[in-house]
Amino acid sequence: MPTDDYPDRPMTAPMDFMPRPSAAFAAAFSEHLDTAIKAAKDSDDAAYRSSTPTANRPAIGAGRLGNECLRAIAYEFHRAPKDGDRGFSGRLYRIFDRGHWGEEAMARYLRLAGFTLLTENAAGKQFRYDIAQYEDGKGRVKGMIDGVITAGPAMLRLPDGSGFAMRYPLMWENKELGSKSWKKLEKGGLRAYGGDYFPQVQMGMFHLGLAENPALFTCKNADTQEIYAELIPADPAFIQASIDKAVRVIATADPEELPRVAAKAADFRCKFCDYAARCWREPKPATPEAGAWSFGQ
Ligand code: SF4
Repeated sequence: MPTDDYPDRPMTAPMDFMPRPSAAFAAAFSEHLDTAIKAAKDSDDAAYRSSTPTANRPAIGAGRLGNECLRAIAYEFHRAPKDGDRGFSGRLYRIFDRGHWGEEAMARYLRLAGFTLLTENAAGKQFRYDIAQYEDGKGRVKGMIDGVITAGPAMLRLPDGSGFAMRYPLMWENKELGSKSWKKLEKGGLRAYGGDYFPQVQMGMFHLGLAENPALFTCKNADTQEIYAELIPADPAFIQASIDKAVRVIATADPEELPRVAAKAADFRCKFCDYAARCWREPKPATPEAGAWSFGQ
């Protein structure tokens, strides 16, 4: 039947009023946001580096000591540029934001569930530690933790009546992961998951005096909101091995004083390394000197 607006068009012919999703528009919009985010975050970082004379000194996060390759750790310590490095993308900055927001949400959930959680020390700062310090007390190796739980439920019970005794104080560390990584973590536990997280927990417990009780590690699945939790006892042998690695790395004036982890560039560890081109090229690039140091808290 013809309509008043379109007298010649029968109603039996479906009219396509729905706008079609445009992949090109989505890409343009995302690019627009990425550019703005990257510019703002890069500018913040540049302002910090120019206003902090020590910001570019050799230093490394404690979690990086989990890397199997000493030379790769040393490249990071000496701040060698990564292969083709153009800094972080807008998308990566958003992933970092997701981690911060996820941490705030998990802190609220823990408090709601009866845990007394501190995320700042008495001075109102995040719990940090510096080891192998420079003269001003800043560390050549440094780390921070998400919080300390000072009290909470004595037991966490399962529906069948069994349960887990909790001991306080304990260190708290939280992450947020996409489903694929979260499932890997859930399947094998934190130590087997690899990367920075296990060394972060171990070094944090030890250097902030929280090694007496197991740490609580929590991780939210960003896609399904499922929560993984694990109690992580201190592992003195792992901590000592991490400190030994740090000592070797800090003592270098040039990362290439340290051995490669592999005999060939085709090794899978090198394929995923940010310094592979630098590492395997000849001649060796020059690196700044590390300077004198002492190991202590
Ligand atoms: S390329 Fe391989 S050997 Fe070289 S720093 Fe990276 S992981 Fe180590």
